[in-house]
Amino acid sequence: MKTEQEFHDLREAVRELAQRVMAPRAAEVDAKGEFPWDYVQALREQGLFGLAIPEEYGGLGAGFEALAVAVEELSRVDAVGGLLLAVQVLGTLPIILGGSPEQKARFLPPAASGEWLAAFGLTEPEAGSDAAHLTTRAVRKGDRYYLTGRKHFITNAGVAGLYVVFARTGEEGPRGISAFVVDPDTPGFSIGRLQHKMGIRGSTTGELIFEEAEVPVENRLGEEGDGFRIAMATLDRTRSNIAAQALGIAQGALDLAVRYAAERRQFGQPIGQFQGIQFMLADMATQVEAARQLTYHACRALDKEGLSLKRMSPAVSRLAAMAKLYASDVAMKVTEDAVQILGGYGYMVDYPAERMMRDAKITQIYEGTNQIQRWIIGRSLLEDMGHGRG
Ligand SMILES: Cc1cc2nc3c(=O)[nH]c(=O)nc-3n(C[C@H](O)[C@H](O)[C@H](O)COP(=O)(O)OP(=O)(O)OC[C@H]3O[C@@H](n4cnc5c(N)ncnc54)[C@H](O)[C@@H]3O)c2cc1C
Repeated sequence: MKTEQEFHDLREAVRELAQRVMAPRAAEVDAKGEFPWDYVQALREQGLFGLAIPEEYGGLGAGFEALAVAVEELSRVDAVGGLLLAVQVLGTLPIILGGSPEQKARFLPPAASGEWLAAFGLTEPEAGSDAAHLTTRAVRKGDRYYLTGRKHFITNAGVAGLYVVFARTGEEGPRGISAFVVDPDTPGFSIGRLQHKMGIRGSTTGELIFEEAEVPVENRLGEEGDGFRIAMATLDRTRSNIAAQALGIAQGALDLAVRYAAERRQFGQPIGQFQGIQFMLADMATQVEAARQLTYHACRALDKEGLSLKRMSPAVSRLAAMAKLYASDVAMKVTEDAVQILGGYGYMVDYPAERMMRDAKITQIYEGTNQIQRWIIGRSLLEDMGHGRG
């Protein structure tokens, strides 16, 4: 996808879908904490799950900028809708980056059509930000690996058709980790507790339990020891999707606050006539626009960088981290301000402002917390000066 017209048409189509399918359902999905299969069906019908998957494997090969357009527009209405697309990329990019042509042909087409939802299993109870110290083990016996351990906080747990799972095959630290594609019907693999959350309540988040789970050698991505590199090369790129999700949430909250300020009357006039409210709206709109520019700038740089396991240019990796950091902080601030502009109504579940504020919070946490983004940015600045990692 290259021309402005193509991006415009994509935005219009996704906006129409979000309004038609998600707007009437978002409050209910949140209240019931119900996985929205109707959203999934609509995204399948529009071919959106394949946006970032190469054309030769049934996708559209449209790249990160196009993906951001779609994730932003969905998240503007319901962050859970945006997350469905973002996680499809998170769970398939390890295969695109690290898989063999045979593995891509086997796993990517059903993900591109949305027949299979994808999941990415890195985090463990004792290994979150410090994922290099994960302890799930994969022991090879003949042409099988046997996986034992537990993942948690995994998006799409219980609904995915493929799980990319990171497990230790060798030494301590990042070099001893390998990546596997795990079929949900694998003997020894089960879904544990589904975890209850503050926001994005329609998305499932849960535990993956491996008890000598039997995974064929041909499901290992790359060589033994490539897993951490595959995980990091994936996250370096997919955090642009979280930036887009945050941007969409922030834009949705701004839309709501402006509409409300124009309609709500106090002291005989719309509250939007008060300079105190106008200044808040002005700051919100400025922050949203700055987040948008940074997010799309990062996506365009990622699209130029291409898809390979080769270490990404530090300047591009830094930009993606900046976009995620800034857009998620903006989402938190703008949604909180939207609640304030709606006053007591903002605190009630009758309006979406409080849901947006709860949903915004996760964008500062997953795919690397914002402290970790600051670390990535700071470290890469020092590397530019010739000071290595420390
Ligand atoms: C809803 C949800 C969905 C998720 N989906 C997935 C998924 O699909 N797949 C997956 O693998 N994971 C997923 N995660 C996990 C997520 O990526 C982790 O929660 C996140 O990386 C943080 O890890 P942690 O929760 O263990 O926090 P910790 O790493 O324990 O961090 C706790 C606090 O310490 C701070 N901290 C840690 N290290 C440093 C440091 N070096 N410098 C400064 N501060 C530091 C953190 O920023 C944080 O504030 C999900 C999490 C949630 C909540």
